[in-house]
Parts: sequence; C-alpha cells; structure tokens
Amino acid sequence: MREFQLSVHIPPSFPNVPPVVFENGGVIPCEPDFHVNGHDGSLCLGSPLALRRVLRAHPELRGFLVHTLRPYLYAVSVKLDRGGPFVFGELRHGSEGKLQDLADDLGIAESCVLAALNLALLPDEEACEMPCPCGCAKALAECSLRDRIADLRSLSNKRELESLRDEFVYGGLLADLKETTRQITAATARLRST
Ligand SMILES: [Zn+2]
Repeated sequence: MREFQLSVHIPPSFPNVPPVVFENGGVIPCEPDFHVNGHDGSLCLGSPLALRRVLRAHPELRGFLVHTLRPYLYAVSVKLDRGGPFVFGELRHGSEGKLQDLADDLGIAESCVLAALNLALLPDEEACEMPCPCGCAKALAECSLRDRIADLRSLSNKRELESLRDEFVYGGLLADLKETTRQITAATARLRST
C-alpha cells in the first residue's frame, strides 16, 4: 500500500477557483510526465476548464478531490509500479490536452474545435446564423452543438476563450515552423554529405 503526504490549499474564492494540491513526501517525481507543475510543484489535476467543470458538478472539497485527486493518485501509482503513460485520459495536459478536452466536451472532432471556439466568442444570436462546424451541414441554430457551445460560454469568459484560441492557432503555427526548420536542417545535412 502506497502512502502519499498531501497538502491541499483551498483558495478564499473556492469553489470558483479550484484547490491546489501538493505532495510533500517525495513519492511523486517532480516531472511533467507525472503531471507535476514545474513552476510551483503543485499536482496538475486537469486542464483549467476540466477542473471548473468538475467544480460545477461538485462544488465541495470532497467531491472535487474524489473526481480529480483520486484518479490522479491511482494513475501515479500505476505509473510508479509499471511505468508507461498515465492511465487517465482526463489528466491530459498542455495545448494538446486542452484541444482533446474541448473536442470531447463539445462532442466534435479536434479539427473542428477552432471553428467552434470562434462561434463561442460570438454572441449566441450571431453564432446561430453561422454554419455549424460539426459537419451536420446545418446552421448552428439547428444543431445540438449550439447548447454545448452555450455551455462552454457559461463555463469560461471571453478572455479565456480567446487565449485558448490563440494557443491553438499559434501553437499549430509553431509546430509547422518546427517541422519546416527540421526539413531544412535535414536537407542541408544531405547537401553537406554529398
Ligand atoms: Zn452541427
């Protein structure tokens, strides 16, 4: 049986802001692979949006911890015992994790998330006139995605949605740039070797 020494910091604005959890016994390696946040050593229990969703469903400490910390500690134990990746999908992190989370929440493909985010940034009446990004070939007003986008608006504010969109747009651009750089480097190396 593995034991964890944990401290839970409850912010004054709880349950609007999630608690922050630390592991103090040195059992969990302070590494991104274990979903430990590099900047303060707190445990990364999920993306901000995912945590807010849990808090909305369980606005008390016990419910929050049962749905975030418990699966996290289970995943840590499995990883410590057997290695390999984290066993829990909901603990994905980084831009990719946020993209997957949003795609799951909205019930659409990852490639449609950016278009859905753009609609979430519009007022409902305006967004409803636009073509739905889910692939249904209808206007958003006639698709159930409308409700899920409204739900996303109610969970976050405009600034957060904008910063998510920027992260996906510029994150993708950055990946393209890295790939181009890699190809140029490889081509240069080939030229040098001939
Ligand atoms: Zn649709």
